[in-house]
Amino acid sequence: MSSLKKQILQLATSLIKISSETNNARLQQEIINFIADQLKSFTLERFEKNSRPSLLVYSQKQRPKKFKVILNAHLDVVPGHKNQYLPYVKAGRLYGRGAYDMKTAAAAEIVLFQKLAKKLNYPLALQLVTDEELGGFDGTKHQLQSGVKAEFVIVGEGTELNITTKAKGIYWLKIKVKGKPGHGAYPWRGENAVWKMYRFLSLLKEKYPELRENKWQTTVNIAHMSTPNTTYNIIPDECEVLLDIRYVPEDKDKVLKEIRDLAEFDFEELWLNESIHYVSKTNPYVKRLAYAVDLVTGQPSRFLKREGASDMRHYTDAKIAAVEFGPTGGGIHAANEWVDLESVIKFYKTLERFLTSI
Ligand SMILES: [Zn+2]
Repeated sequence: MSSLKKQILQLATSLIKISSETNNARLQQEIINFIADQLKSFTLERFEKNSRPSLLVYSQKQRPKKFKVILNAHLDVVPGHKNQYLPYVKAGRLYGRGAYDMKTAAAAEIVLFQKLAKKLNYPLALQLVTDEELGGFDGTKHQLQSGVKAEFVIVGEGTELNITTKAKGIYWLKIKVKGKPGHGAYPWRGENAVWKMYRFLSLLKEKYPELRENKWQTTVNIAHMSTPNTTYNIIPDECEVLLDIRYVPEDKDKVLKEIRDLAEFDFEELWLNESIHYVSKTNPYVKRLAYAVDLVTGQPSRFLKREGASDMRHYTDAKIAAVEFGPTGGGIHAANEWVDLESVIKFYKTLERFLTSI
């Protein structure tokens, strides 16, 4: 095993052994302290919001106005079985909770940062957060709100060495429609709220058909439907649905209006609004990174579009170009999570080539 692989593996193993599950504030602090200890020769800026610690590491004495590049990683993991915190290597794979999502990538970023940060003639930062699995509001977003800026950001989420340039946004809508109550035997005397909702949902389904295969389109899931009426002979005067809308960046400016226009009634309740992620493939940093991927892997780089979002979207909101780029693995949020160690080395080498070529 190469000494580089050994070094990354050793650090990743130590990180996995700290079971920094999303809701364990004490262990979030412990893992941040553990890493701060490794990076003592750099400037360590500590952030905290709602008891969520995060770190920003750089070689300058004071935080530069704008970093050229930020390498971002999250150190929180979703809950796992006890034995997942005893990582092991088998057939070139490292197994353990967080091996793929995303402590091994974090370890590679740390090792690379230690090697390069002081040699580069531009400001590079390492951003380590502990709340990505909860939405990244107290980590990445908090740092952005505190004035951290960059020209380009790489989030080391697993991508099979592809580059994520787009991710869907989310709207959760609670839609309520009112009717007029009455006796079930005389429908003309009332107004059935369920039929009203049904007409709206039919139009909605025409506009956004229920996909039976993965296509890059806006999707709508009817997550819940209810009426307060529980008996047979009453005309229900109220009906409510919960909609989970995953919209593609191309629909960003029109999706809510289109949905409102379909309804013959007004509704206001927006429960969640998570922005899209988008960066142009012709962005000079994206092109450079793609070129580095080609050189290291010997294969043309591919661009990914994601259904789910990550901390990247906070950068899109702040108008900072960002991508996800990370190693190969499997079992994300599952019992047999693993990362392919050879791909971790390729991840490291690609980042090294990229950072030394810009
Ligand atoms: Zn992740």
